[in-house]
Amino acid sequence: MTLVYTHENLTLVMNINTALHNAGIKTQIKNQYAAGGRGEIPCFETWPEVWVTSQFQLKQAQEIVANIMSQEHQPDWYCQKCNEQNGAAFDFCWQCDTAKPH
Ligand SMILES: [Zn+2]
Repeated sequence: MTLVYTHENLTLVMNINTALHNAGIKTQIKNQYAAGGRGEIPCFETWPEVWVTSQFQLKQAQEIVANIMSQEHQPDWYCQKCNEQNGAAFDFCWQCDTAKPH
């Protein structure tokens, strides 16, 4: 398995994971429940991580992650159904799967 993305913000990590999942890439989340737990653990050691389980899908996964990160400077959009805030790189609301409004 190979680590493709990690961030202190679990929402961002889950967004990446959802994007990879939507592309048919098998992933595994590590440390998903570590953040916000015991305060004495150094934060950087408990960041949630996205791992790609198949080497065969690694290159595609890295391209998707790079594409998402390159669009991070664009404004977020708000879901018309549940008002969730979503990153510009995402075509579907991470919370309710509603398509991004055009
Ligand atoms: Zn939504």
